Amino acid sequence: MVKVYIGIGSNLGDRVDNLHRALAAIDAFMTLEELSGVYETEPKYVLDQPAFLNMAVAGNCEMKPEELLASLKEAEVKIGRVPAAERYGPRAIDLDILFFGDQVVDQPDLQVPHPLIAEREFVLKPLADIAPQFRHPLAGRTIAEMLMALEVEGEAKAISVDV
Ligand code: AMP
Repeated sequence: MVKVYIGIGSNLGDRVDNLHRALAAIDAFMTLEELSGVYETEPKYVLDQPAFLNMAVAGNCEMKPEELLASLKEAEVKIGRVPAAERYGPRAIDLDILFFGDQVVDQPDLQVPHPLIAEREFVLKPLADIAPQFRHPLAGRTIAEMLMALEVEGEAKAISVDV
């Protein structure tokens, strides 16, 4: 069994309900062990879109990474994600495999660890709630170290919200 970290984001529709539905979907195919807080974050990349709610979860998974990706994509569609008009545009739900234990996957449709973790405060902030000392298997730095590096750059804008 491998400890897996998943990032969850939503900026369309009832965002809190979308997070709840995502948690229920994930809970059906892995044993959830840790849930981060929920953070409201400004959009990155495509700026003209609503703010996101982001969180991260960890749990034990018996599937292979490719099987987990397929299950997450299925859950995204069930929760109401429609094919995106533009990359990084608004979406009801976004489910990303952040880490799959220490495993490294580099395939056309799946890269693990997720390649953009280090530049994304909306990923690092919730991850730091549940895994501050987890060491990125490629970068060699912990989540707390990566978050601190971003905060020094002045990017820290995530706001904790109660849901
Ligand atoms: P996005 O628009 O961020 O949801 O990107 C979705 C696509 O990214 C999926 O169709 C996946 O094939 C691909 N992808 C590559 N690496 C990952 C990962 N670690 N987690 C989730 N999706 C991934």
